[in-house]
Amino acid sequence: MDEIILKPGRDKSVKARHPWIFEGAIERVKGEPVSGANVLVRNAEGVAVAIAAFSPVSQIRARTWTVQPDEQVDAEFFRRRLVRALAHREHLPERKSINALRLVNSEGDGLPGLIADLYADWLVVQFLSAGAEYWRDTTLALLRELLPGVSIYERSDSDGRRREGLEPRAGLISGTEPPEAIEVSEGPWKLLVDVKRGHKTGLYLDQRDNREAVRLASRGKDVLNCFCYTGGFTVAALAGGAASVESVDASEDALALARRNCDLNGGEPEKTVFTCADVFQFLRRCRDARKTYDVIILDPPKFADSKVQVDKAARGYKDINLLAFKLLRPGGTLFTYSCSGLVETPLFKKIVSDAALDAGREALVVRRLSQSACHPVPLSFPEGEYLKGLQIACP
Ligand code: SAH
Repeated sequence: MDEIILKPGRDKSVKARHPWIFEGAIERVKGEPVSGANVLVRNAEGVAVAIAAFSPVSQIRARTWTVQPDEQVDAEFFRRRLVRALAHREHLPERKSINALRLVNSEGDGLPGLIADLYADWLVVQFLSAGAEYWRDTTLALLRELLPGVSIYERSDSDGRRREGLEPRAGLISGTEPPEAIEVSEGPWKLLVDVKRGHKTGLYLDQRDNREAVRLASRGKDVLNCFCYTGGFTVAALAGGAASVESVDASEDALALARRNCDLNGGEPEKTVFTCADVFQFLRRCRDARKTYDVIILDPPKFADSKVQVDKAARGYKDINLLAFKLLRPGGTLFTYSCSGLVETPLFKKIVSDAALDAGREALVVRRLSQSACHPVPLSFPEGEYLKGLQIACP
């Protein structure tokens, strides 16, 4: 096996089970490992500390598979990790009533770069790192064996692959071509998922628990769902007995699927409005027209992709949160999220807090929200906790 030798002291994070080894931590590479191949990681004293996947072009030059350097990283290793990942999901209390969930969550399941999301009888996979790509055939063979009867569709077409020097790839791998929309069940409601063209692998599975929180807060309320995408929160609010739900998104395609999702759940058209608009402008128009709501949901796309974008992202979050606080009726509830990993929880709280102050509103955090349980995050890998949300009561 080829080797990477770390600079003095740089084995600390490896030993602390942080799975990323940055280019700057590496003293030298012994041999010529191909993209994704196993490398033995040694500290500056020459002691073996891990086995990792080598990524020749990424700033994250290697991703740790195991911190037990005598463990074999082979097909059996992947079988053990996949079996463990599947077992975790089988034991989730909600598993019996849902058939859409994340089965493999990359670093969260000890498999950096591998995502596998189940939608009814289809598994949508993403190989997003050089290491995951290297073990693709092995992984697919194991997934077919462990999940018999499930068709596999690939969506390895996200930006992250470019940083790993990999071309995008998407398409059917095995089984039946997915329909234009797969119908899945999430307990109290059903949702249509376009796994071929949708964001991520089709649905925001990470927001499942938060849809439930919205359901519980919606009875008799006038709800505004901003950045609604295909209407997950809209459907949840209606299931919870909302008096009305207005859903806003800039994408006509997303709104079309949101409408269909409402119909699928016995939608009451008189209660729903779908508006194609820029949320920033929409909220200003509402403010000028003195429109108000009982419940407002803000779940924008990622505003910060790199550190230099954090300030601009912060201004964006501040803007929409300030406007939302102004539109909330007394006794109202704000659900506000950020999925920008680079905007960490303390900063996000500060932004929302400043927004409430500027709007002259008292704001009480009643629930801290995060990714659903099928997205486990190692305590040693804070970057994995990218989704943060607050349920805020405004007296
Ligand atoms: N809340 C959704 C996920 C939101 S994804 C869910 O739970 O499923 C972000 C959405 O924001 C996308 O649908 C995208 O079309 C929309 N969007 C991005 N920028 C926007 C803007 N400025 N105004 C309105 N919608 C926007």
